[in-house]
Amino acid sequence: MSEDALPDEQLRPGTLDEFIGHQTLRGNLKVYLQAAKERGQALDHVLFYGNPGLGKTTLAQIMAGELGVNMVSSSGPVLERSGDLAAILTSLSRNDILFIDEIHRMPVVVEEVMYPALEDFRLDLVIGQGPGARTVKIPVEPFTLVGATTRIGLLSSPLRDRFGVILHLDFYSPEELARIVKRTARILGVSITDAGAFEIGRRSRGTPRIANRYLRRVRDFSTVNGSELIGKEEAANALARMDVDENGLDQMDRKLLSVLIENYGGGPVGLKTLAVACSEDVRTLEDIYEPYLVQSGFLKLTRRGRVATLKAYEHIKLFG
Ligand code: ADP
Repeated sequence: MSEDALPDEQLRPGTLDEFIGHQTLRGNLKVYLQAAKERGQALDHVLFYGNPGLGKTTLAQIMAGELGVNMVSSSGPVLERSGDLAAILTSLSRNDILFIDEIHRMPVVVEEVMYPALEDFRLDLVIGQGPGARTVKIPVEPFTLVGATTRIGLLSSPLRDRFGVILHLDFYSPEELARIVKRTARILGVSITDAGAFEIGRRSRGTPRIANRYLRRVRDFSTVNGSELIGKEEAANALARMDVDENGLDQMDRKLLSVLIENYGGGPVGLKTLAVACSEDVRTLEDIYEPYLVQSGFLKLTRRGRVATLKAYEHIKLFG
């Protein structure tokens, strides 16, 4: 296994107390978990939504750990047929967690099989075809569905309504990311100063997965340079070598902004046009790049299209 693949699982916080940031969400989740445990019942179905890398999978695993149950993982696009879901549901033990990532991409036929399972812990399977077809009802063990999505708006409302708990994961503050970097450094055995961790944290687009990735790359630079301790300067130099600028924007962020400004007079311009001009996939722009650019004030989404802000003009003048 590569060194990068191995630590990722090791880096996941194992308990709610180890999970950094999102204090209110954590506090509420703790109450729901404790109540379900005391009642000995399956927890209500939970939906996490937020950008990639903000901790949705981690929280699902923490929930399973705190409840002392198994977690079975799948994802929306993998569940192609209703039989795929039926096979998983009938294999669950009492109060287990079924985690479905990218749940907004689950096909409608599969979603329909999910409804009776979510409400009555029952599968309605149609056997045969035409006039001879009949429905068989198969009970399944009580379970908790934990759904994760980057796009809550794409979830059908019947599915969304069946989640008793809906929790939003927002971007992390630079201080929280610095704590995550320090924690990861400790696990990986890397020496880093507070200022070094903050430098990585503040340039990580509000996202723990990115912070952890940058820490590993910064460590590579310091290993090769023979420096044992990562300080602010080591972190800043390595990030600059990786083309991550002062505001944490990378090459693609800057390309998007400069195309918008230089080719389209700052907008408004439609997403598809922008994607073609940047040679990037529409979904990648929408899911990965735009949310952070909007949140950090570089980009505005208007009804007529994407518009560059004054901050974007200033940034591209300096770094573009
Ligand atoms: P998502 O499922 O939202 O894409 P993950 O749960 O896979 O995100 O998290 C990505 C990585 O970031 C994980 O490896 C985990 O170690 C780290 N991580 C996420 N949230 C936190 C947090 N609050 N505290 C510490 N580490 C975190």
